[in-house]
Amino acid sequence: MNFEIKQAILEKIKEYDRIFLFRHIRNDGDCVGATKGFQALLKATWPEKEIYLIDSDTAAYLAFLGPEDAPVDESLYDDALGIVLDTASEARISNKNYKRCKELIKIDHHIPVETYGDPVWVEEHRSSCCEMIVDFYQTFSDELVLTSEAATYLYTGMVTDSGRFKYDGVNGDTLRAAATLLDAGINTELLYAQLYLEEFSFYKFKAYIYENMQITEHGVAYLYVDKEMQERFNLTLEEASACVNTMDKIRGCISWIVFIDTGNADGAIRVRLRSRFVHINSIAEKHNGGGHACASGATVYSRAEMNMLIRETDALVKEYKETHEDWL
Ligand code: AMP
Repeated sequence: MNFEIKQAILEKIKEYDRIFLFRHIRNDGDCVGATKGFQALLKATWPEKEIYLIDSDTAAYLAFLGPEDAPVDESLYDDALGIVLDTASEARISNKNYKRCKELIKIDHHIPVETYGDPVWVEEHRSSCCEMIVDFYQTFSDELVLTSEAATYLYTGMVTDSGRFKYDGVNGDTLRAAATLLDAGINTELLYAQLYLEEFSFYKFKAYIYENMQITEHGVAYLYVDKEMQERFNLTLEEASACVNTMDKIRGCISWIVFIDTGNADGAIRVRLRSRFVHINSIAEKHNGGGHACASGATVYSRAEMNMLIRETDALVKEYKETHEDWL
């Protein structure tokens, strides 16, 4: 699929001696895995090329993947190729020096909210951007070199973005891509321990969540994590945000949302929306956000807007339940 676009991307990569890789703000396993994995793939294939990944704030839970490159003189961007991975809109590209690159390529699996770059390779049905990078490797495996290091980064993104191969979007291609990576040699026991072990204090926070979360009339589970709660459980913003995944298995709740007070002067509240069966990205798009059909992010600026978003999601869930049968 999309062979010509992939071929055009390969040609561009061959053309340039210096390439910068970019990803999105509030980074996650997929954008970190895709950028680090692509960097390792390109470096192993073309050791003579300069391939940079410069980003300042890798999420703490992904720190085990190792640091990014130190910043370089900004003029180096000017005659370089930029490749942006896993990022739907320009506003979400974390390293703003992408603007200086001579040419920019977009590789992404999000629902496009805008177009940037050329070539643009977007496959919304992919369970992760890492899966697309593996597909790129599979397409040109006679030319590209996949090391176990690259495979580990890419597998990290595949595993985290697909909920360990559970979410909608996982298909035969996903598992064939995962098989290609496993064949390259990954210590999965260590990787899963690095990804999923939790601090005892987070268990205490979970107990609090279960006590305090609310459920709307039609089945939207939600929780507001205020600053006081973050301080009481000694949570970073990132740890507080992770709690969305603890609300995902309630029968009848086909959508769940966590609101995290960022403490910013503008009153921004980070919103993480999740669902099964029903698609909630339209709600995120109404509130400064976007993402995937069943996993989106947004930002609201007041408790009133937060309550509005909850009501809108509740109405969407109500309508879905009234018009569909196979939900639980
Ligand atoms: P999060 O809850 O932040 O993990 O976001 C869920 C998914 O939606 C991820 O794939 C994000 O990259 C994506 N996402 C979050 N916020 C936005 C946004 N403002 N615009 C587009 N995509 C977003």
